[in-house]
Amino acid sequence: MKKSIMELEDISRKLEPVNNKRAHWNTSVQKYADNFLDEFNQNNTFVVSENMGKGILDLSIEDEGKPIEEVLQCLKENVDTPNINPASGGHFGYIPGGGVFTTALGDYLAAITNRYAGIFFACPGGVRMENMLLRWMCKMVGYPVTALGNLTSGGSIANLSAITTARDAKGIKAKDVDRCVIYMTKQLHHCVQKSLRVAGMKESIVRYIPMDSSFKMIPEKLNIQIEQDKANGLLPFMVFGSAGTTDTGAIDPLKKIGGIAKENKLWFHVDAAYGGFFMLSNRIKPAFKGIELSDSIAIDPHKGLFLSYGIGAVLIKDTDALYQTHHYTANYMQDAFNLDEDPSPADLSPELTKHFRGLRMWISLQLLGVAPFRAALEEKILLCQYFYEEIQKLGFEVGPEPDLSIAIFRYVPKTEDANAYNLKLVKQIMQDGRIFLSSTTIDGAYWIRFAVLSFRTHLKQVDLALQLLGNLVK
Ligand SMILES: *Cc1c(COP(=O)(O)O)cnc(C)c1O
Repeated sequence: MKKSIMELEDISRKLEPVNNKRAHWNTSVQKYADNFLDEFNQNNTFVVSENMGKGILDLSIEDEGKPIEEVLQCLKENVDTPNINPASGGHFGYIPGGGVFTTALGDYLAAITNRYAGIFFACPGGVRMENMLLRWMCKMVGYPVTALGNLTSGGSIANLSAITTARDAKGIKAKDVDRCVIYMTKQLHHCVQKSLRVAGMKESIVRYIPMDSSFKMIPEKLNIQIEQDKANGLLPFMVFGSAGTTDTGAIDPLKKIGGIAKENKLWFHVDAAYGGFFMLSNRIKPAFKGIELSDSIAIDPHKGLFLSYGIGAVLIKDTDALYQTHHYTANYMQDAFNLDEDPSPADLSPELTKHFRGLRMWISLQLLGVAPFRAALEEKILLCQYFYEEIQKLGFEVGPEPDLSIAIFRYVPKTEDANAYNLKLVKQIMQDGRIFLSSTTIDGAYWIRFAVLSFRTHLKQVDLALQLLGNLVK
């Protein structure tokens, strides 16, 4: 038996690369990363490719490991080249962010030390760190010091957590679901619909409240609808507001919605996945007035804090409500409980074993300080305003004046169909590849979106976008 154990040990020890190998792998990965940042990231934002990454399938998974050179080459060709390059400053599609370098340092250390920050007993410092970050965000949005939340993998899960918490806090049982009424606008992010389904609330009644010409909820209409629903014996339950919609960056009248929610005892959730971090700027903060009246907020550090993908947050004013929905005890965990000086993420989220995602955010804020984040956010707002003004000079039609850093625009040609023409424009931009733009359809009209949120987007990239668009419609 010992012989077999030793033979297996021999092979399994490969899992711990020693000295030379570790150094070689480290340098190779670092070189790859440097090369990415210095060169191939800068060249293109969209790369039209023939094989669409199919080569990844050619490098099969086998018993023996491969040289790192071969593995990285495969990664470069098939993953890091075709289609959208979200690290590029020319990325104006969807909601860009960029992925600040320090995220990688945090992830690297989190992966090496593999601290388990799900339960206070296992890693009290890590749990304190994640809670400290959540309290920092709670403070930014004007929540009381007793509020907390959870670091999630992104905004969709943050919205889901808020919905399940609201459902339980309002005592909604399965038998009530088809009488429950949920209020939102058609501009609310689609992940909420998905989350409602996941949360077992698919049969609830969704009321789309009309919007004004800037795509913001009309609070008076919300009020009327709630009254009607109450009179009809339904259960008004939850209202959603957006603090920066994905389509146009619009902020709903949060203060008025908050007042109506309170009067009618509705759970008020604000989706600030895109817009939330603009509150770091005192100049922009007033636009979010009333967000502090909400019961819960979704906010994405992998958007407005420019961290690499994989970190969102849900903030909940009533921490106990979050706990009631998510805590659990198991016999095998008996040593871990009742020692908490600070709530454990495992009691505030569906996750148990989890990525120590707080470290990437903490190390970024500690190393860089808040000032460059705030400046970048203010810069993006101005860049979007600049674009909004300049694009009109080129003969384009624009949507509402941007609240934040997203503008919509389209070119209306004299003879051609406008929708088809703008679709063609987006395709031409994609073929060129130096910048990337995405589009949306609002009330049947095709609009091109200009979303400025990559920390790498500066005046140079915006001018390039204007120049490209100007040339295309000449
Ligand atoms: C991006 C976004 C979401 C979804 O968040 P993910 O991090 O992509 O899961 C939700 N709401 C808004 C307003 C968003 O911009």
